[in-house]
Amino acid sequence: MNNISFADLNLAPEILRALTESGYTVPTPIQAQAIPMVLEGCDLMAGAQTGTGKTAAFALPMLQKLLPLATPSPSPARHPVRALILVPTRELAIQVEVSVKAYAKHSHLRSLVVFGGVDIKTQTPHLRTGVEILVATPGRLLDHIEQKTVQLNQVQMLVLDEADRMLDMGFMPDLKRILALLPKQRQTLMFSATFSNEIKRLSEDFLVNPRLIEVARSNATSENITQKVYLIGSAEKHALLAQLLRGSDAKQTLVFTKTKLTASRLARQLHREGFAADAIHGDKSQLERIQALDAFKQGKTTVLIATDVAARGLDIDHLPMVINYEIPSAPEDYVHRIGRTGRAGASGSAISLVSPEEEKYLFEIEKLIKTTIQREAPLTSPAPAARPPRAESRPSPRTEPRTEHHVHIRAQHAPVSKTPVHDAWFNKPYEPSVSTRVVTPPRDLPSKPKSQLPALFMRRKVSTPDAED
Ligand code: AMP
Repeated sequence: MNNISFADLNLAPEILRALTESGYTVPTPIQAQAIPMVLEGCDLMAGAQTGTGKTAAFALPMLQKLLPLATPSPSPARHPVRALILVPTRELAIQVEVSVKAYAKHSHLRSLVVFGGVDIKTQTPHLRTGVEILVATPGRLLDHIEQKTVQLNQVQMLVLDEADRMLDMGFMPDLKRILALLPKQRQTLMFSATFSNEIKRLSEDFLVNPRLIEVARSNATSENITQKVYLIGSAEKHALLAQLLRGSDAKQTLVFTKTKLTASRLARQLHREGFAADAIHGDKSQLERIQALDAFKQGKTTVLIATDVAARGLDIDHLPMVINYEIPSAPEDYVHRIGRTGRAGASGSAISLVSPEEEKYLFEIEKLIKTTIQREAPLTSPAPAARPPRAESRPSPRTEPRTEHHVHIRAQHAPVSKTPVHDAWFNKPYEPSVSTRVVTPPRDLPSKPKSQLPALFMRRKVSTPDAED
């Protein structure tokens, strides 16, 4: 499997050319497995999370199958929606469509992304020009269906990406409504990071004799991610976080909190202490979230504080460090979070600050990933000579963090690697992933209040948009 090249996968020259230009040399395991099956026409149930190359795993064979239908004709009638990709979040929608566009750039196949939180009228003219591949969040797609701005009767391929997340976010009723409108004769591919019973049931409902693929949930256990835990009181977390950030050579760090409130407060505090920090969560407008993400990718901010909902699906390649300021109560979220680092063979560090009240969640996480995470003793000495924040645009810290003496001293330790991180991604100019035609909310949330959903879909409370609070 490892020796397979993209050329062996029966992909057309125009697709291969786009892959070479994207810098891809060999297929990832999920691509090597999924592409032949999708080309054969099988339905697919794939266990894979962001970072495994799953987007290309469905997008490449999709393009290959649609290529014979591609036409340079300007007539919208010649460009009906033939493939529909449903995703849970706007950020993921944008990323998926950027990838599809890149892979399709040498063909006449057109793609478009539609998501909530922006004026629907800005999307309609683009839809009317005709697109073969539509990437959408469920709520906004239903809006377009209701307004008759999209026709789905030619859809021959459906992808449900991050299906587990769509369930968690309560999108099941929307999904059912959308699926009822699609032609019965179609190919359906489902991708999910976790294989819960709900997901299995969903695959039984929506897929026909699906082939099953599960790529190792490598991010949770992969050797290139160093996982560590600090057992520490809640009141001491901030000091330790500042210390870890100063003591690390990681150029960028994604910090997770459970609530929007903590994310905002932490960002403000760190900012006051001289860190180029920003927060991204569900209360921020779409434009603010995109700007925060772009600034992070460009290195203008070096610490991005995020809630699970906001960070889901973010494609920040080669992120060197993830810190869980608060660990999630749903163990799967831990897997998603630390999967932001250590991608594509790069090394990564995932540090969790765990208060006594959170230890029960830690045990759940360890049970899920079948690993006991290394416990670290809190840092003792002040971080190495308060380095200036790494973003060029920020002033030096005005004050030293009022930190280290708050940290309970237990042992001498230097837990954070001082090895400089040389990472090609950070030298690459960042190409903004979306135009700034976006405007502010309403958020693209499930169309029905959660209280009306079956208990089944409310299992992982912490993962729901509302649970950020
Ligand atoms: P995904 O899991 O689809 O979100 O992909 C994660 C990242 O891996 C994206 O930045 C892709 O561009 C990149 N990627 C996907 N497939 C390959 C490949 N075969 N070789 C190198 N990079 C890849």
